[in-house]
Amino acid sequence: MSAGARLVVLGRQGAGKGTQCLRLSRHYVVPHISTGDMLRAAVKAETDLGVKAGELMARGALVPDDLMIGIVEERLNQDDTTERGYILDGFPRTVGQAECLAEITVDRPLDVVLDLDVPEPVVLDRLARRRACVDCGANYSLDSPPKYGWRCDNCGGDVVQREDDTPEAIQKRLDAYERETSPLVDWYAARGLLEVIDGQGSADDVTRRLVAAIDAHRQRRRG
Ligand code: AMP
Repeated sequence: MSAGARLVVLGRQGAGKGTQCLRLSRHYVVPHISTGDMLRAAVKAETDLGVKAGELMARGALVPDDLMIGIVEERLNQDDTTERGYILDGFPRTVGQAECLAEITVDRPLDVVLDLDVPEPVVLDRLARRRACVDCGANYSLDSPPKYGWRCDNCGGDVVQREDDTPEAIQKRLDAYERETSPLVDWYAARGLLEVIDGQGSADDVTRRLVAAIDAHRQRRRG
């Protein structure tokens, strides 16, 4: 059962969402939609959105809901997502965003919401060691660097520490997660959509847990 999927992946910064979403997008053959990557591309291209978002992102604050909902709605109306589905990474991040997402996708609703659970002390350590490609957003760490110097294995882009991976911005983003995003766990559980997955261990183990939970959840809902 690996054709198409409509998924949201929640989890603290550094829980491994980016890596796992990429793997899930290959497994289910659906687009991986990362709002963080979309915003970083807008900042780089110096679009109106990028100018508005850049400063907020650098200090670890959330971009306002109305801006976020606009870009996600536009992306979700493109043919690839209407036909095959989507994996949303970094959206929704507030209950307001989740309510709008439910409206946008009313005729193609979510299959399942995954909460990738990794405790705060572990993500703090991972974020301090994280490095990312400035072009495609692929994640690396000081423990598993790219193969050739600090050049991305996928696209050859520079691999650097993200501007918002400073200790102050990391703490602010984790606080924002607890305050704004963690209420979504109960919100989606109340709607029968939530699966909590242990995000610790090897990337392969975590992918296996995610796929097993997604397939079992979809089977139950269909059955
Ligand atoms: P991420 O790569 O998902 O950690 O996102 C990086 C930054 O982009 C966040 O710290 C926010 O400033 C902004 N951002 C990404 N997605 C959202 C969202 N759904 N709502 C508000 N801000 C967002």
